[in-house]
Amino acid sequence: MKYHFECSTCGTKYYDTKFMYLCPICEKTNTQDQPPKGVLKTLYDYKNISSKFEDLEKNNFLDLMPINSAENMPNLRVGDTPLYMYQDLNGKKLDYSVYFKDDSQNPTFSFKDRASALVSAYAKENKIQTIVAASTGNAGSSLAGICAAQNQKAIIYVPASAPKAKLTQIKMYGAELKTVDGTYDKAFDLSIEATKKHGYFNRNTAYNPFTIEGKKTVSFELFSQLNKNIPDTVFVPVGDGVIISGVFKGFEDLLMLKIIDKMPNIIAVQSEGSRNILANMDNDNFVSEKSNTIADSISVDIPRNFLFCKSYIKKYQTSYLTVSDTEIIEASVNLSKNTGIFSEPAAATAFAGFMKYQKENKIIENSKNVILLTGSGLKDLNAVQSII
Ligand SMILES: *Cc1c(COP(=O)(O)O)cnc(C)c1O
Repeated sequence: MKYHFECSTCGTKYYDTKFMYLCPICEKTNTQDQPPKGVLKTLYDYKNISSKFEDLEKNNFLDLMPINSAENMPNLRVGDTPLYMYQDLNGKKLDYSVYFKDDSQNPTFSFKDRASALVSAYAKENKIQTIVAASTGNAGSSLAGICAAQNQKAIIYVPASAPKAKLTQIKMYGAELKTVDGTYDKAFDLSIEATKKHGYFNRNTAYNPFTIEGKKTVSFELFSQLNKNIPDTVFVPVGDGVIISGVFKGFEDLLMLKIIDKMPNIIAVQSEGSRNILANMDNDNFVSEKSNTIADSISVDIPRNFLFCKSYIKKYQTSYLTVSDTEIIEASVNLSKNTGIFSEPAAATAFAGFMKYQKENKIIENSKNVILLTGSGLKDLNAVQSII
């Protein structure tokens, strides 16, 4: 096989096995009230992969993907999103560069399409027709849209409280919508039950290891768009901690291939009202605070990828910070007015993190700073009702 799995918790390696969700050893000890152990990392035969970035690029990075051909990818433009550079903001000249990576330009208007596309392509390659997911909204609307393009069936479990636009998308794309009276965690459990009972493929974040592999493509793009340079910082909004792990993984793949020689400072930004990853960075025992934030896409009580995300932050000693709902709304308004990019609150959280760093004079002179904008503002109009 071109890839193998390694458990991000216990380190056990799995060669020549068929597809797996969680490490079977760690999965046994998982409990409801703790972040799951055993999320798998997908590793490749780095020694035998061409280490020239141009060659990887030419081949759609297939050497670093768990699929054999790009043919089974959806006939939609997933990824390849614009990177906009600014050297002034709010009418002020800057002595560094700011880049907005606008992932609201994906087919279903969020970053989640990167993961859905790969999961769907893998399913297609392996002749699996039905894919199921639990979601707070974006992952579900994304899978629904991608499956519509792929002639696959999507079944989506979502809390009934999800923003209307996201529920509407799921319906419009023709997926089977299962609204759940309860939280995302309940939706998650129901989706796993359906997977076990009917043999559907499961796209759940931090459960299906290929969600991380799909998400890592943003790092390859950034490296390419910066003319084969790494940025100094990447500000990433964090909920379950899968997007940020994808960003780490993409740059780490390039590090393994010696295409780059160090990691960027990949900065985790959480909302103060949902900071269960960052609040537990130095705790031996994970303690969950009830989340309450305007940024619904990153509102998480038990972050599914806590352990993996934490180990990346510790390994590469990267930075992290939280911002308040007020700062998130301010950032969202500021971003819209300055750039013409209207982001949903979860995405604006990354910009709020950048603005906080800027205020504290933590942005280095001549540096390249990327802000990852993960979803469109039209997905959650309620969030900004109060200011309009
Ligand atoms: C899912 C999502 C995030 C957070 O990603 P995690 O993997 O849960 O950390 C951020 N912004 C948007 C718009 C999202 O949909």
